[in-house]
Amino acid sequence: MPNSAPIDRHVADAVVTCDGDSKVHLPGAVDVSAGRIVRVGPVGGAPDVDGTVYDHGGLLMPGLINAHAHTPMTLVRGAGDGLPLQRWLTEAMWPREGRMTPEDVWWGMVLGSAEMLAAGVTTSCEMYLFEDALVDAVRATGGRLVMTPAALSVLHGDAFGSDGDRLDAIAAFHAEHHDPLGRVTVGVAPHSAYDLGVGRVADLAELSRSIDAVLHLHVAETRGESAALEAEYGRSIVQILADHDVFAGRTLMAHGVWVDAEDIDILVSTETAVAHCPVSNMKLGSGVAPVAAMLDAGVTVALGTDGPASNDTLDLWEEVKVAPLLARVNALDPTVLPAGLVLEMATREGANAVGLQNVGSLVAGMAADMIRIDLGHPSFTPVTCTDELLAHLVWAGSSRSVTDVWVQGERVVEARVVQTVDVERARAEVQNRAERLAGA
Ligand SMILES: [Zn+2]
Repeated sequence: MPNSAPIDRHVADAVVTCDGDSKVHLPGAVDVSAGRIVRVGPVGGAPDVDGTVYDHGGLLMPGLINAHAHTPMTLVRGAGDGLPLQRWLTEAMWPREGRMTPEDVWWGMVLGSAEMLAAGVTTSCEMYLFEDALVDAVRATGGRLVMTPAALSVLHGDAFGSDGDRLDAIAAFHAEHHDPLGRVTVGVAPHSAYDLGVGRVADLAELSRSIDAVLHLHVAETRGESAALEAEYGRSIVQILADHDVFAGRTLMAHGVWVDAEDIDILVSTETAVAHCPVSNMKLGSGVAPVAAMLDAGVTVALGTDGPASNDTLDLWEEVKVAPLLARVNALDPTVLPAGLVLEMATREGANAVGLQNVGSLVAGMAADMIRIDLGHPSFTPVTCTDELLAHLVWAGSSRSVTDVWVQGERVVEARVVQTVDVERARAEVQNRAERLAGA
């Protein structure tokens, strides 16, 4: 097929592909045409290109995938810190969130999306209300968005629950915005069985299957949240949901902290992916997810920040470091979650978990979502083999190392500066709006 768009070449001292085999090119080149990767490989022997050749130095790798977030909660970041979970929700979070307008959510999302892009997080999977505002905000920042509109009873009663209107609204939103070749895809997000009830979650799961969309829900985050349901049914919450066909489609389960071996078998047989959020789980005192056991069993495990009020950043590099730290100290075993696997969880496995086939690795055919890492920091030295480079990324990598970010070939961060939106304006807006939401 003729391709009239020129091919640009991005050369770096290292290209980490996250292709499933931990392939690294030293040095390497990523050739990009019309936002799509057309070739990745060593520099030596590469055919000439007809576009611009950029010599970036440093390291290129895929953009990180934040598989579970409620990013507009930038507006409530830090509120109620240190309260017990139920008081944190009822006294600090829900009163503020109940006062949010779509315009508040737009600004909260702009600020959080800019924070993620600057950290090298090119995609986030969002569970939130006011989904139109999130889509508009990310179209402004240039990020990639998996928008899963939430169904939730606790804040606005049936208005955002799973009554017919909300189901119809989510289906219509999917029809309007789901675009697998663009930057926005759409799923369905029942908040949880303990909030909505099992029947309503099953209705939303059926909707997600009927439109072939990802189902995104919280399961087994805390030990006690589903105690009433588990007593009523005499089964674990994972078993209850499986009995109601909730996992029959493409499912992304956030947290999965309190799951046992039988539950993990269900995740495997239903090909349910898990968004592991270790910083949130530790901050809120929720528990330690059995990630090593899930990975051993063959579960797709991605990484998520959760909302910025329970983290309190959107910097997925923290999860990249904390996930193996927590798993290793929990297992008393330094062999679990090796560095190459953790990087795959933050990229390729994350893309799989949120239902994206076109991002997550630097290979031909993928969208050009990639980030540049400055290797000049002392903590990246020495490198005597590629395994050490991957280890440095996991243990010493951070958002501060990220200098440039491309989404679909568009450079949205250049020399650490977000190019698409006015971050200082967004900070001022979020500050003012947060004061109003706090009732201050
Ligand atoms: Zn969450």
